Parts: sequence; C-alpha cells; structure tokens
Amino acid sequence: EAMAENVDLVVLGAGPGGYVAAIRAAQAGLKTVLVEKAKAGGVCLHKGCIPSKSMLRSAELYQQMKNSEDYGILTSDVQLEMASVQQRKNRIVTQLFNGVQQLLEKNGVTVVEGTGRILGPSIFSPQAGTISVEKADGSENDMFVPQHVIIATGSRPRSLPGLNVDGKAVMFSDHALEMKSLPKSIVIIGGGVIGIEWASMLNDFGVDVTVVEFADRILPFEDADVSKEMTRLLQKRDVKILTGAKLLSETVQVEEAGVRLQLEQEGEIRSLESERMLVSVGRQPNTEDIGLHNTSIQVEKGFIQVNAKMQTAESHIYAIGDVIGGYQLAHVASHEGILAVDHILGRAVHPLDPTIVPRCTYSRPEIGSIGLSEAEAVEKGYNIKTARFPFRGVGKSLVSGEADGFIKVVADQDHDDLLGVHIIGPHATELISEAGLAKVLDATPWEISQAIHPHPTLSEVYGEVALAVDGKPIHS
Ligand code: FAD
Repeated sequence: EAMAENVDLVVLGAGPGGYVAAIRAAQAGLKTVLVEKAKAGGVCLHKGCIPSKSMLRSAELYQQMKNSEDYGILTSDVQLEMASVQQRKNRIVTQLFNGVQQLLEKNGVTVVEGTGRILGPSIFSPQAGTISVEKADGSENDMFVPQHVIIATGSRPRSLPGLNVDGKAVMFSDHALEMKSLPKSIVIIGGGVIGIEWASMLNDFGVDVTVVEFADRILPFEDADVSKEMTRLLQKRDVKILTGAKLLSETVQVEEAGVRLQLEQEGEIRSLESERMLVSVGRQPNTEDIGLHNTSIQVEKGFIQVNAKMQTAESHIYAIGDVIGGYQLAHVASHEGILAVDHILGRAVHPLDPTIVPRCTYSRPEIGSIGLSEAEAVEKGYNIKTARFPFRGVGKSLVSGEADGFIKVVADQDHDDLLGVHIIGPHATELISEAGLAKVLDATPWEISQAIHPHPTLSEVYGEVALAVDGKPIHS
C-alpha cells in the first residue's frame, strides 16, 4: 500500500459541484485534492448542459433559416450536416474543458485521476475517512487522509425495469448527444426537462417526435399554465404528446426497422413503432461504489442525506449536487459546493433557499421559473393573486418573430410577497434572472413595476405583468 498523504480536503467528483468546491477551498488556502474518474466538468460539461445547448442552438438556427422568408431573406436549399453540428459541439466542450483544467491548476488544486472511495476511519485521525483512489491503468492506489471530504459524484441516467438501453436504437441522452445521423422518427419516454428539450430540438431538426409522459401533463413540476402552453405549442409543430401513458418497458423490442413498444393509456394498450427511442425518466445518484458502507452516512432512494450545511451523518463528510437529490441543476451543485466549503472554513453560511433557485428548460420557446407555482402556493395556504401578460403585447417579440408565451406572477395577497414567477417564451432562461434578483431582494410586484424596463425589449413584459397583479397593465 502506498503511503497515505495528509491533506485538508478531498473532493470526490469534478462536476460543477466538485470542481467549484475545490477551487473555493484552494483559494482559501486549503490543501485540496480533487478526484475524478472521467473528465473535469462532469455531466454538465460533457454530457449535459453545454453539449445539449450547443445542439439546440444548431436546431434553432436550422429552423429559422428554413423559415426566413418572413424576414425578407430568401434561402434555397438549406441543409443540415449532422457531422458539423457534432464538431461545433465538441469544439465548445473542448474549449470549456481546457478552461476548467486551467482554472484548477491556476488555483493550486491537485487533480487526481481515478475512482475515489471512502475506506472508513483512518489510523491517523480517527474521525477522518481515508480515501483510496483506484487508477484506471491498474497502478497502485493513491491514498489520502483528509480533514474533510466532499462527495460530489453526481448522477447518471435512470432506466426502467427490463429495458435494455443499447445506446443505438434505445438511447439515453448521453447517446443521443453523439448521434451521427438523425432518425426519421423517435419516441421520447419522459416529458421532463430533458425529454422536452430533446423533443423540441429533434422536431426542429425535422424528426417525427412522440413524447410519452406518465403524469397527466408534460413538465409536471412547472406551473400548470406553462405545461399547457408548452403542450399547445409543441402540438402545433406536430409533436405528438401522450400523457397519462405508461411505457410497458418489458414490451420494448428492437428490430431491424426500429423499436416496437407498447404502452398503457387510460386502461388501454397501445402499440407504437419508431426508428429510435430516447429514455429520459430521471437521474440516478452515483452512490453505490464509493464506500458509503464504511460510514454511517444515510441514503434514501440512493440519494445522500445532508443537513442545511451539506453535512452527512459523518459531520466531516459533506455531500453536494445531484448525488443529494433536490433540484438536479448545475448552478445548484456549484452553490452547494461553495456553501459546504464556507462551512468547513468556519464562515457564516445561509442554507440554500429552494424558492430562489431559477429553473430552466431550453426548449423552443424556453421556460424559466422560480418559486411556487399557483397550485403550490394555494396548497401552502397562501391567499394569492396572480397575473399573466403575453409576449405578444410588447413590440420586441413581434420584431424578433417570437411572440408565443407569457410571464405569470404568483403573489401573496396579504403581504404582497412575490411567491413565484413563471416564464414561457423567447429568452425565458435569461429573463428569469430579474425574478431571481427580485426574490433575493424581497421585492413586491409594485417594486418590479417601478424598475424601468428599456424599450423595445422583452423585459417590458415584467413591467406589464407587475402592474397587472394589482390593477391594469398599459398594453392590454
Ligand atoms: P456531475 O456533473 O454528475 O459530476 C460528477 C462527477 O463525478 C463526474 O464527472 C463523474 O465522473 C465523477 N465521479 C463519480 N463517481 C466518482 C468516483 N467514485 N470517483 C471519482 N469521480 C467520480 N443543469 C442545468 O443547470 N442546466 C442545464 O441546461 C442542464 N442541462 C442538462 C442536460 C442533460 C442532457 C443532462 C443529463 C443534465 C443537464 N443538467 C443541466 C443537469 C446538470 O448536468 C447536473 O445537475 C450537474 O452536472 C450536477 O453536477 P454534480 O457536480 O453534482 O455532478
């Protein structure tokens, strides 16, 4: 066995949770080791946020160019070249990957390649767990004895019972991101964020798309009005949406022509055929093989249980990001990473307030939301007031040719608090940040209406919807 090295902090996993935590710790002078078995940047950079958004941008542009006559631009023979779409995506990922590696180096983080595991209490320091790092090349394990550990091992796609995901006809998003050519048709199992982003993208690429969703609506965690509008807009583009529909996963058969499957909807069995199938039914935490059995750390449905300071039942071991569940978002993982490190450093930390976390779906149009939906606010007993204002009501949306959607505000009638903001429409993922700031500053709808929104911009919808909460908007 190699000599174990004493360090201040070992971070397991270099996704947006782990690498941000490692940089924060190293900046404060902690001797920090970051263990990663694949590539720094994690799912977000290599299989998630960045590559998917790059492909979405290609799809959006393709769709716009095919419909550019409206803008006075006559194109002929617009062609899609999947290989170049892939190359562009890979270029962007590589550039950002280099950036992350440089940042880690610049800040003095020691990056160790391999699979990290907690071996349990160490002989050097009874409360700290020894960490072993198994190397891919089979060479002797590295050993570390840290004062603190942060588990940031993230998540992977979840499958369904009896389903064989071969990565070709039956894919996870990991596989779909590497598609060399597009199928004629695809059935997407799961109408959550990932499923709807792919439905919108593939439809823009010209693929015949069917979405199968178990709940009674797509994007079931969004405000019901947003789900309804997204359903309407996707259906207008000929995306087929089957809700209250359960895939009978054991019926899935891969044949030469494609995938044959059965689903149950309203008590009836339906058969579907499609060239390919994408399975996007949630993410499973990576907690099986990291030595948790050597600790008293609690897991529930695989997710590591932590307190508001991100500490597990072993107070010197923290866990952050997708591996603890909750909102599985990159910016949440990073925020939690900073929170955990600040707590280790003895700084004052504010527990993460889930009602100030913006959530984004990069479909066309986009969705951005924060805080409570109307139904959640009612369920929590608030006496609510709501308002909606359509993008169509401001000039900029017509100028840009993207007039679908609205901003909806849910506020507390009694205290005038902003409870939730729900945007579906052009650039919703950018626009939601104004609501994020409003939430952090505890702004009232009236205060939002007092912010001056430049003309012509999409942000004018904020001014209008804020007026509408307590009275009348101008342009309606
Ligand atoms: P991960 O990013 O999962 O990183 C964990 C890392 O740990 C991995 O690199 C893994 O190799 C490593 N690891 C695991 N076990 C070990 C071990 N034992 N030893 C060493 N290393 C280990 N979120 C957004 O906010 N915006 C988006 O637009 C968005 N789009 C997405 C699109 C797709 C298709 C997918 C799949 C996800 C998307 N997400 C998005 C979610 C986002 O990617 C995750 O929330 C985020 O990556 C979680 O970060 P993390 O640090 O917790 O874990």
